[in-house]
Parts: sequence; C-alpha cells; structure tokens
Amino acid sequence: MRIHAVQSGLVTIKNCQCHGKGRGTMRLVNTILDRTWTEPLPIYSWAIEHPEGIILVDTGETARAMEPGYFPWWNPYFQMSIKPCVQPEDEVGFRLRALGIEPNDVRKVILTHLHTDHIGGLHHFPNAEIILSRREIELTDGWRGQLRGYLTHRLPEWLSPRLIDYEPKPIGPFPESFTLTKAGDVFLIPTEGHTGGHLSVLVQTDGLSFFFAGDASYTLQLLLDQIVDGVAQDEETSRETLKRILQYVQEFPTVYLPSHDHGAAQRLAERTIVSV
Ligand SMILES: [Zn+2]
Repeated sequence: MRIHAVQSGLVTIKNCQCHGKGRGTMRLVNTILDRTWTEPLPIYSWAIEHPEGIILVDTGETARAMEPGYFPWWNPYFQMSIKPCVQPEDEVGFRLRALGIEPNDVRKVILTHLHTDHIGGLHHFPNAEIILSRREIELTDGWRGQLRGYLTHRLPEWLSPRLIDYEPKPIGPFPESFTLTKAGDVFLIPTEGHTGGHLSVLVQTDGLSFFFAGDASYTLQLLLDQIVDGVAQDEETSRETLKRILQYVQEFPTVYLPSHDHGAAQRLAERTIVSV
C-alpha cells in the first residue's frame, strides 16, 4: 500500500498553542496573548493508495485563507494567532496531481476534524465520500460552533458527509473504533480533546501501524512529552487521548504522523516507528 505525505503550504502559530499554558479558558487567552511564534509548520494531508480506492486523510488549507476577510474579524484567535502561507499551487488538488493522483479518483476523504487547515481543500473532491465523526459536526452548530472556531460557512454547499458512530470494538487502549475498509485494515478511532469529535486514522499493514493523528498532538515530541495544546476544546479528554496513543505506540510498532510535524514526511518515507 503506497502512502504519500501531501503538503499544502505552511502555518505559523503561537508557541503557547503547541505547549498549552494555564487551565480552562486561560489556555486560549494565553495562546492569543503569547508574543512568540513557532517556525512555519507544514500542513499535511495523507493519500493512501488502498486496493479499495484512494483514501485521503484531511484536505489541508486553501489559498483563500490568505485573503483579507477569510477569517472572522471578531474572533481574536484568528486575528492574532494564526498566519497561513498557502499559494494556489500548494492546494491539495494540485499537490495530488504532482504525485500522479487525479483528485477525482479519490474515493474517500476522511476529516480528522473541522478546523480550517484540515477542510480548506474540500472543494477539490465533490465526487468523493466525505467522512467524519457525528460528534464533530454537531459541535459546529450555531453561534457556539463559531465561538469554538469552526468556519462552517466556508464548507462547500454540496457537502453531505457520512457521519461515523463508533462500534464497541476495542483496538489496543481505544475502547471504540470504526472499520472503514472491507479488508479490515483501515480504522477510525476517537482521539478527542483537541476538538470534541476529533478522530485519527489507523492503517495496519506490513506488520506496522500508520497512525494519522490529525491534531491529536501537533508533533511526535509533544505526544512523547504528553503536552496538551493551547486551543484544545477539552483539556482532560485531550490528556486521556495522549495517554491512549502513547500506550498504543508502546504496544504496536507505529509510524506516528500528525498534521503539523516537520519530521512526519520523513518518518513515513523511512517507515520509522516510535521508540519509547
Ligand atoms: Zn486543529
């Protein structure tokens, strides 16, 4: 099974977004007020050439995020804490073509969660089945959803996603999962906390687990250090998720692939497993 890292540009965020500081709403306030920035971080999606059809995990950011007014003016987080750098040719559709994959040939698009830098490329896939957790879409409802930072008005009008309810089938420390493929080698697992309906994608092949973690942790190091990020919707759940993922990678040889980790593409290419 060939798996590709697909980078759609870069994003610079506050250091306190990576290493959350304080408790409760103070975590978000501290992130917004932090004056120090990370280096530009990659925005990764992942294309899995599965025998049952191409699966894409997340869709990266759109170049439109560079336009004034793309982010809501009233939201201090977007105005003060996020700087995307995405050119039109960085969008996932173009990057896939460069890899020899036609966006129209993508069968399934799985969204780890609905933050803008994971859904920005959705417009390239009007013919794919779009899959996400039911809980995640419920959280986007109304003004509360907007306060949580979801840009639902940026979702394509044609979007009619398949919403996943997990089954009581444990995988390692995860009590629930959803089996996506007939071959039984691609699973969705709840990794909530960063957002309330966040999921990760697990591919088990060749004796390895490929763990597409979305923003469950921004990097491998933050997983190893068990650091909750500075914008997590639920700090305690996020901590529990980090604990479970760490337990999983200790139990199974795992290539760990978060969306904003500089080292992730190389770990994928070299099939480097987490050593703990
Ligand atoms: Zn996110």
